[in-house]
Amino acid sequence: MGIGMPRRMALVQLPLPDEALLSWVDHNTAALGLTRSRTAAALGLMAAGPSTGSQLQNLTHWISDATAARIQAATGIQPAASLRLTLRRYQPAALGADVPSPDELRPVSPQGMLSRQFVYRQFIAYCPTCVREHGRWSIDWHLPWTFTCPRHHCYLTGVCPACQNAVAPRRGPLTSGCTALIQAGSRPSRSHPGHTEGYSRRCGADLGTARAIAVEDTRVSAAQQYVNGLLDAPAHCGAAARQALTDLRTMVAVALRFGRLEHLEDADPAVRRRFGKFATRRDGLPYAYVYGVWGTKDPFDPLLMAAGVRIAHHMVTSADPSAVLAPVLPSDGPQRRERSFAFDRTDWVRASPRYAQLARRAIGIGAYEAIARKVHRPAQ
Ligand SMILES: [Zn+2]
Ligand SMILES: [Zn+2]
Repeated sequence: MGIGMPRRMALVQLPLPDEALLSWVDHNTAALGLTRSRTAAALGLMAAGPSTGSQLQNLTHWISDATAARIQAATGIQPAASLRLTLRRYQPAALGADVPSPDELRPVSPQGMLSRQFVYRQFIAYCPTCVREHGRWSIDWHLPWTFTCPRHHCYLTGVCPACQNAVAPRRGPLTSGCTALIQAGSRPSRSHPGHTEGYSRRCGADLGTARAIAVEDTRVSAAQQYVNGLLDAPAHCGAAARQALTDLRTMVAVALRFGRLEHLEDADPAVRRRFGKFATRRDGLPYAYVYGVWGTKDPFDPLLMAAGVRIAHHMVTSADPSAVLAPVLPSDGPQRRERSFAFDRTDWVRASPRYAQLARRAIGIGAYEAIARKVHRPAQ
């Protein structure tokens, strides 16, 4: 069902370079004094309706050409510019939509492709200092690949400083503080006389007051620069950038499954503390899928991502990737079964052949050969 062309708006706040679509909509919401839903409709994004927050989160990942044309009709902003407010800006290179699914040998949907590239609908992190200074949220904060702010040399955070809940822009504008519902107290129950019931209120804390943790560790900065170089690679380097990012993603999984605190010597204390907590939990759950250990609700804590990418970056830039983790990688043996649980098969399927040796050691020769047979079967 299509939406008609919107009318040209008399007044519109233009997006900043690198701003996210969600942030741009919320900035206009505040400037125009309309509801978020009416603002999104006026900008040509959607018909006014109830689930605006979730829809805006989806649209920040991907807008169609038709939506870009409606934005142009409403605001005069060129489609090429409005695509850059979404993760589609990374499409020509690192987040290619034409990555074939390893099993079905057919193109995957944008959402399916994105989830295999560390892109999740619910994820968002922020730099407290950027939020405090100008209140505009960057598009790359929607990518778990971004764990530091290059302007303020600090780690991003994904939670509210007051209630510690994950930031949830689907519940309300980014300009109105933390949108989490928190327990506010209890009162006598109307439906059950003699009992009390809890009631909640919106947290509302100013996210700009979160403490920014400084990045002192040059290896983390180098890892972030490496990732950014891949994400921003020109279209003609797309295939190579995509492969490098896929390899890095696989090595992040390996780093998080097998890495130990000794791999984070000289890392910033906050990163070591976060990884240490994670590793303790992980070691108590030998059969868990590595991202399952991480947690599904807010799977990408920027500090943990920094730990994973820091070790993974060391691996991909090393002449012998398995040497980095050699002392802790298990030799093939009885733990084969539990180790193969730690990975999505596709992690290994899509990684470059130079990691085959590492894969054999990480998940066991038998498991690896089974995957390789399945994947390298001839196309039908
Ligand atoms: Zn910043
Ligand atoms: Zn809060």
